[in-house]
Amino acid sequence: MGLLDQVREALRSGAIEVVDLTAPLSAETPILKLPEPFLNTIPFRLEEISRYDAGGPAWYWNNIHTGEHTGTHLDVPVHWVSGKDGHDVSQVPLSTLIAPAVVLDVSDRVAEDHDFLVEIDDVKAWQDLHGPLPEGGWLLVRTGWDARSDTESEFLNEGRSPGWSASCARWLAEETPLTGVGVETVGTDAGAAHSFDPPFPCHNFMLGAGKHGLTQLRNLALLPPAGAMIVVSPLPIVGGSGSPVRVLALVER
Ligand code: MN
Repeated sequence: MGLLDQVREALRSGAIEVVDLTAPLSAETPILKLPEPFLNTIPFRLEEISRYDAGGPAWYWNNIHTGEHTGTHLDVPVHWVSGKDGHDVSQVPLSTLIAPAVVLDVSDRVAEDHDFLVEIDDVKAWQDLHGPLPEGGWLLVRTGWDARSDTESEFLNEGRSPGWSASCARWLAEETPLTGVGVETVGTDAGAAHSFDPPFPCHNFMLGAGKHGLTQLRNLALLPPAGAMIVVSPLPIVGGSGSPVRVLALVER
């Protein structure tokens, strides 16, 4: 059997399960709220063109109004000033979009401390148990925050949400073979990261290193610590700084 025949058979039998890591996209999808004087993105919105009516008797379709950074989405290097000479979302290497993914579970600690920050030692402890971080892969951090994602006030939590320490973000960007990190929160940085040195260190270091971020993931509890593959599908917006994405994980059962 060819390799793709083996994959097809494994998908049919359930030996490979497909897990959807994406939040539904609607007008209720929580979005980032930056304070004055910064500008904000718009909420997602459908604008009906026609629905089996005079404007289109046999068809239904909409225009969509959305930001690039709305719902489950991908951040690419040009999103941040540190990565301004890097690639845009239409230029993301395909090897980043289908890649191995590992999961660091800190949900117990986040339950005790909403401002919890992942440190280098937490990632090294994970490596001691599960092996090296995958070359060209993704580190996804499970915080349990996805349980809040249907309610904007709980999800944004008055600006208190977990993330990475500045030193950990720098280490992940500069010292690991990862292509990106993924989180369950509204952005890849902690809620308090505006006050870090540098501000928003995950954006600063990861995007500055030509790497990527994924946000508002869910269902990470269904993934093993290591061994999954993810498929990330941004719109190829020419010049874009990011895009809403569907993220699917392939997991061996
Ligand atoms: Mn973003």
